[in-house]
Amino acid sequence: MKFKVLLIEDNESSMRVLKRVIGKANLDVVYASSLTQAKVIFESTAPETYLCAVVDYTLPDAPEGQAIDYAIESFIPVIVITDRSDEYVREHILSKNVIDYIPKQNTQIFEYLSRLLARLEKNKTIGVLVVDDSTQSRNSMVSLLSRHNFITYSATTAQQGLIMLREHPEIKLMITNEYMPDMSGVALTVEARKLYGKDELSIIGISASRSSSLLAKFIKSGANDYLNKPYCHEEFFCRIVQNVEYIEQIDTIRKAANTDYLTGLPNRRHFFNKAESSIRRGLDCMTMALIDLDHFKSINDNFGHDYGDLVLKEVARLINRHFAKFHVSRFGGEEFCIFLPNVNHDDALEFVESFRLAVSKKVIKSADIRHSCTVSIGVTSQLTGKIETMLTLADEHLYAAKAKGRNQTVGDN
Ligand code: GH3
Ligand code: MG
Ligand code: MG
Repeated sequence: MKFKVLLIEDNESSMRVLKRVIGKANLDVVYASSLTQAKVIFESTAPETYLCAVVDYTLPDAPEGQAIDYAIESFIPVIVITDRSDEYVREHILSKNVIDYIPKQNTQIFEYLSRLLARLEKNKTIGVLVVDDSTQSRNSMVSLLSRHNFITYSATTAQQGLIMLREHPEIKLMITNEYMPDMSGVALTVEARKLYGKDELSIIGISASRSSSLLAKFIKSGANDYLNKPYCHEEFFCRIVQNVEYIEQIDTIRKAANTDYLTGLPNRRHFFNKAESSIRRGLDCMTMALIDLDHFKSINDNFGHDYGDLVLKEVARLINRHFAKFHVSRFGGEEFCIFLPNVNHDDALEFVESFRLAVSKKVIKSADIRHSCTVSIGVTSQLTGKIETMLTLADEHLYAAKAKGRNQTVGDN
């Protein structure tokens, strides 16, 4: 579903730019030039279809931010834009439950707005857990977080917090108070780190204590950051966003590091990790299959490298379809590997044969080329307990399949 943004702005030129920025974020703009007009539009639509409202502080019929109050009362998150730069207006805006305010002075603001809009949309999938025994402090953080569209969880004790972390892997950030009756925030941080590493969960410690050693204690116990109470909204969100983005960046890097660029399949290293951890969990039986395209060099020679790439991508697609339940990988060049945990030799041979036939029947089409290719496959289910030895055996079988004339599968005896 495409979300809407309610834009309330009377200045023509700034409205045009804002419309473009919001449109670029792939959001629908609903536009009003006054508070009265906004009310008419808004009364005919459901508030949940709005991602947020972008509201000008000064409007002809709402000169002192009254449109902000209207949007907040209608339960839409509000971003304020203003050309008033005085400290009084800034304070006045931040005293309201707004997401953020953006001064209109420079063009940088449009860049900032588009990042903010993208953030609001992404936040809808990110869980944030607040652990604090003080109801007032907990509620105030949760309300700030929901305003930014985060999925919020709150716990009144450290033990409850740990249960929530276990049950909700979508929690990417935990904010914990230090002084709590059942366990300190530092001790909770240590326990949480036993469940999730720094690449999976960010932790921010908070406390009203002015002790500088507490910051160091939190960080040394595995927290990412520390925030002193009382904090202002802006500081709170800068810390939140920074720590959430840290987790997202690691995730992006990890995906890139684990994936083969051409086919999108997991790469060799990632495959090894997956297969090894699956062996460590203990398996009754397991099968390894090594797949190699036949005469692939001549496909490249005859039809060009681009067509060769297309063939690799099509074979990868078939691998994903046939072996969706198993660990698959592009091993390098035109070689692919499948690890099938808890699958015995006979069953594995059946899976593999049906894949081999599917490849040979598939006509791979480009603009002016229609061609099909075949694969040879070596399969082993010998319980050596080691990935490397299973690969050596599968490779020997693959070599035998090639020697016997290709387009066939060779298994254990
Ligand atoms: P065999 O049936 O014995 O396996 O013969 P083959 O030609 O498939 O094997 P060979 O190892 O001689 O050649 C593999 C070729 O795969 C050589 C290499 O240029 C090509 N190749 C490796 N990676 C890629 C790639 O990413 N894209 C393309 N288009 N070709 C690649
Ligand atoms: Mg080959
Ligand atoms: Mg090869």
